[in-house]
Amino acid sequence: MPTIWEKAKAGFHYRGDFLVIDAHCHLECAPGAAAGPFSLPRLIETMDALGIERACVNLAHFPNAPEANDRLNSYVRREPMRIFAIALVNPFTPNANLDEARRCLDELGMRGVKVANHWNRSALLPLKTEDAERMEPVFALAERQRRPVICHGFITPDAVRRHPDLPFIIAHGTEDWEAAEAYRPFPNAFFDTATGFFPRATIEHFVNRFGADRIVFGSNMPRNDPRVPLGAALTSGISRLDKEKILGRNMAGLLGFNPSK
Ligand SMILES: [Zn+2]
Repeated sequence: MPTIWEKAKAGFHYRGDFLVIDAHCHLECAPGAAAGPFSLPRLIETMDALGIERACVNLAHFPNAPEANDRLNSYVRREPMRIFAIALVNPFTPNANLDEARRCLDELGMRGVKVANHWNRSALLPLKTEDAERMEPVFALAERQRRPVICHGFITPDAVRRHPDLPFIIAHGTEDWEAAEAYRPFPNAFFDTATGFFPRATIEHFVNRFGADRIVFGSNMPRNDPRVPLGAALTSGISRLDKEKILGRNMAGLLGFNPSK
């Protein structure tokens, strides 16, 4: 049985076998780090080697969201067939978020919104209630437009409940099995696979607890190695259909992406 690496060397792609969309990628993980391992060419090279068709990208490490979004827009223009742009908003700034989200979704055609709740907190804890409430206009906009919101870690369960038509993708959500339970009643809460915590067992656990429809492949590339969640999903003890859902189908649905067009 050939390994993933041997398949990659032979030019094998999952395309046609599995559609793979990475829901959680970054470029320029530090300001100015546009070259080398944090660069667009390296991202595309890695995607090609692993058969990842598309990547949802944000520049979450920029302190200034409009600047990050402008840079992201220039990357999408270079690789429009490989990247979905996810607009960055900062939940700790009082006023600017709705205008910036509008600009990114309406004018720049970005596919979703990333709430950069890691800027004031290092853990995956939910946003404080007042910070989550400040995001309400952005959530309402995204909900009307059916664009997913990606959060670094957990958003408050209340926000998820208030917006039943808004998909919330809880990045790294599979890292904390207990915290995830609070989101079980809400089918609009999704979890990505960016975890270092027994990745294969984690995928099996989340499929058992939440169903495969609520799990999306997300790697946190280039900070984390995408081979880990990809290999975990491919080798986990779940059905082939569930693997297809996790690796690409679910995210295609959330993004309104039809790969055959
Ligand atoms: Zn990340």
